[in-house]
Amino acid sequence: MAKVGLREWFAVGRVIASGHLARYSGVGEGPLTQFEAAYSEKFGVKHTLAMTNGTAALVSALAAAGVGPGDEVLVPAYTWIATAAAPLAVGAVPVLVDIDQTLTMDPADILRKITPRTRAIIPVHMANMVCDMDRIMEIARGRGLLVIEDACQAVGVTYKGRRVGTIGDIGAFSFNQFKNMNVGEGGALVTNDDRYYVRARMYHDVGSIFRGHLDNENEPHFFGVNFKASQIQGAMLNVQLAKLDPMLARMRSRYRLMTRMLASSQAFRIGPHNDVGNAVGLHVIFDTAEEAAGFAARHKRGVYRLYDSSRHVYTNWLPVLEQRAAHPRMNPFAWASRKIEYTPDMCARSLDILQRTCRVSLGENYPLPLVAYVARQLASGGDAARQVSYAV
Ligand SMILES: *Cc1c(COP(=O)(O)O)cnc(C)c1O
Repeated sequence: MAKVGLREWFAVGRVIASGHLARYSGVGEGPLTQFEAAYSEKFGVKHTLAMTNGTAALVSALAAAGVGPGDEVLVPAYTWIATAAAPLAVGAVPVLVDIDQTLTMDPADILRKITPRTRAIIPVHMANMVCDMDRIMEIARGRGLLVIEDACQAVGVTYKGRRVGTIGDIGAFSFNQFKNMNVGEGGALVTNDDRYYVRARMYHDVGSIFRGHLDNENEPHFFGVNFKASQIQGAMLNVQLAKLDPMLARMRSRYRLMTRMLASSQAFRIGPHNDVGNAVGLHVIFDTAEEAAGFAARHKRGVYRLYDSSRHVYTNWLPVLEQRAAHPRMNPFAWASRKIEYTPDMCARSLDILQRTCRVSLGENYPLPLVAYVARQLASGGDAARQVSYAV
């Protein structure tokens, strides 16, 4: 997890001293503009738009791409509920897709879930794992579907040399406290498409027409909401961006060390990964749910069974599953082109995988010898790891 410290403190102090805290505070370019340029450069993408949070980025991405009532959007059965709620915010409905043992969308199930009304796929790079983007892009391009990557939980992670979030049509990132870059709450959208960019900028800023943007691609202004980030977020983001790649490098070296040491275990298998050479996320898979639960119980710190992080499992997304909107006449399920039904066992394969899989923290903020010690304990099935202070 990304640490926040004195450098962020000083950066925020400078913004407070300047008196210019808002995105458009009349002084031209501030920390937000600097951040967007630096992020675009580092990620190799044309446009970055900072926002209040990752959910805002997902919703703005869908609005920018013109996804709306009657459309179906494929989302995985294992993700944060925001991925499933985002299509509903623009009037479309989510259709759930099973994950495979990489913990990301199973391309074979994507094919099964596509209907004539499918408009977009939202692959989620969950828990720093990466989706099978080659296959997903091939499926999407062959059928004219949009790909909006949810890279909220994998900021900066690469898939075959490219940063996730920059491979599909639009990418969404979160910078909340639990993500790879941490400014408390924050987010960003990236795209190489000029029109998606200006539409996202209009949607995320209800006052966009008054900002004097000269590059609107002849796109008439439509009304939007307000998801604008503040210069305080911008100032922190600049500091956090500089810490990102060093942190990912520490995770990569710890992944290599831990998998080397865990490979010999008879109790579990190391989970598969769609780009193992650059992996920064580690999970182990057991034959039975009971073995996985027992392992998680013995190694409390730095290990948890995925099924037990219940908020990320679709069966617990009650407002979505029960199709409850803030106002009954603003309910996208009433506008869907067919009756959408959700059942607890609709993604039974995902549940089976989540019940048999444990996540192992890479301990990126801990020294390598301590990580090696923990790995030895995990490999031997011993429980001494419990005694060292080893937080997720
Ligand atoms: C965190 C997260 C989001 C939403 O980000 P917020 O910044 O919390 O709004 C979306 N999708 C996934 C997979 C996430 O983990």
